[in-house]
Amino acid sequence: MRQIDHFIAGGAGFSGAGRTHKVWNPSTGEVQAEVPLGDAALLDRAVANAMKVQPEWAATNPQRRARVMFRFKELIEANMQEMAELLASEHGKVIDDAKGDIQRGLEVIEYACGIPQVLKGEYTQGAGPGIDVYSMRQPLGIGAGITPFNFPAMIPMWMFGMAIAAGNAFILKPSERDPSVPVRLAELFLEAGAPEGLLQVVHGDKEMVDAILDHADIAAVSFVGSSDIAHYVYKRGVAAGKRVQAMGGAKNHGIVMPDADLDQVVNDLAGAAFGSAGERCMALPVVVPVGEDTANRLREKLIPAIHALRIGVSNDPEAHYGPVVTPEHRARVEQWIDTAENEGGEIVVDGRGFSLQGHEKGFFIGPTLIDHVTTGMESYKEEIFGPVLQIVRAKDFEEAVRLPSEHQYGNGVAIFTRNGHAAREFASRVNVGMVGINVPIPVPVAYHSFGGWKRSAFGDTNQYGTEGLKFWTKVKTVTQRWPDGTADGSNENAFIIPTMG
Ligand code: NAD
Repeated sequence: MRQIDHFIAGGAGFSGAGRTHKVWNPSTGEVQAEVPLGDAALLDRAVANAMKVQPEWAATNPQRRARVMFRFKELIEANMQEMAELLASEHGKVIDDAKGDIQRGLEVIEYACGIPQVLKGEYTQGAGPGIDVYSMRQPLGIGAGITPFNFPAMIPMWMFGMAIAAGNAFILKPSERDPSVPVRLAELFLEAGAPEGLLQVVHGDKEMVDAILDHADIAAVSFVGSSDIAHYVYKRGVAAGKRVQAMGGAKNHGIVMPDADLDQVVNDLAGAAFGSAGERCMALPVVVPVGEDTANRLREKLIPAIHALRIGVSNDPEAHYGPVVTPEHRARVEQWIDTAENEGGEIVVDGRGFSLQGHEKGFFIGPTLIDHVTTGMESYKEEIFGPVLQIVRAKDFEEAVRLPSEHQYGNGVAIFTRNGHAAREFASRVNVGMVGINVPIPVPVAYHSFGGWKRSAFGDTNQYGTEGLKFWTKVKTVTQRWPDGTADGSNENAFIIPTMG
């Protein structure tokens, strides 16, 4: 059995004696590796390593830090195919999609290559007589990232790319379900010239997460995963005095206005709802056609498009999407389809019980379309995270704005229309953090930032871009005066707070 070790300076010496977790190949349904579940003692060692190297790294000038990022970028590009295959074999997404997962993380590394530019502080000359004020952003020390299974390359890079470029050391606790690529990233980062101990990977589950949240020497924690755990991580981390950002689940709506180009919408929806087997926090699992006529026309076009989807193993170059991540997850998604049916949803296309010929043990689910879903249904309120598209019919534009605005999640939303006024109105009024206008998966580019609202994110700072830089640094502001030594030193106003009055 392949063993996936922790990646900590000095080596973890994984013997397989402690608790372990099995890593599946979702396409074959076989266990392909095991990963150790670490504990507080292992974390202590990683933190001690990080403390040794972080001060010198922070003191390394930003241009030199950026050079490590440049070399890391080259190494990822050189190893893209191998990493995408590894990622796909543990996650189940198809290889081109796995490349996208790596590429979107790499784009944050590209942004981090510009760290000397973005770290420049503010300066005011002459804020008072002979007084200048300047501010600088300093690293926090040691940061930690706890990441979900669904983007095992992109999300770690969102976090450590920004944290490390800003001068922090970083400890990554990836998902135990697909942990190999995060380790590979850390190996390549070392090869790129980073000091040993700057980026380490500790595997584990709740026990390790709790150890991270309670560790006195970890200054900040970035979390991405499901909402209940995000909320828990946020509360526990903040109670321990840390800076915490915790991104949670999603239920993104795609609004289809009567004037939308329905062929384009169907094409976009097929990818956004079923790509990566629906296991994306920016998937579009709910479509909201406005008006009965739009709903009927859309449904008519969606059905054949869904039947035309090809489900395959993750290395099938023709497949649109692959299996879901684990057998438990498949069972959960199928249960949600049962629930939707019991609640009165119409199962128009049923993906339950899907079996791929030659790969009968794989964790496949056929694409599923459910119509006449209403807001009172549990299957609408909760995240399903599988290849399931629900249709919620809205009578007018007002209702279409209200649905995503009132949902407990507020990650992303999209509107499809040719009407610029409606789109502008929608973008300005909807109570959701990321909006696409005729763009189905509006994940912002690396020099903007990523973050949802409501139960999709706890904390107030987004991932990557200048927001990410803010999260991983603290501001120091210096007010300076350089007297020339000719004054007598007396100042009768010294007891009154200085003002600009
Ligand atoms: P998850 O919440 O099960 O796991 C996320 C992380 O938390 C993992 O590292 C896991 O080991 C750890 N964890 C699991 N149980 C824990 C517990 N009881 N206590 C403490 N830590 C625990 O999420 P997942 O299934 O890996 O990922 C899918 C979820 O992530 C979906 O809800 C999806 O919407 C969400 N997601 C959100 C975003 C976003 O940016 N908003 C991005 C990607 C995924």
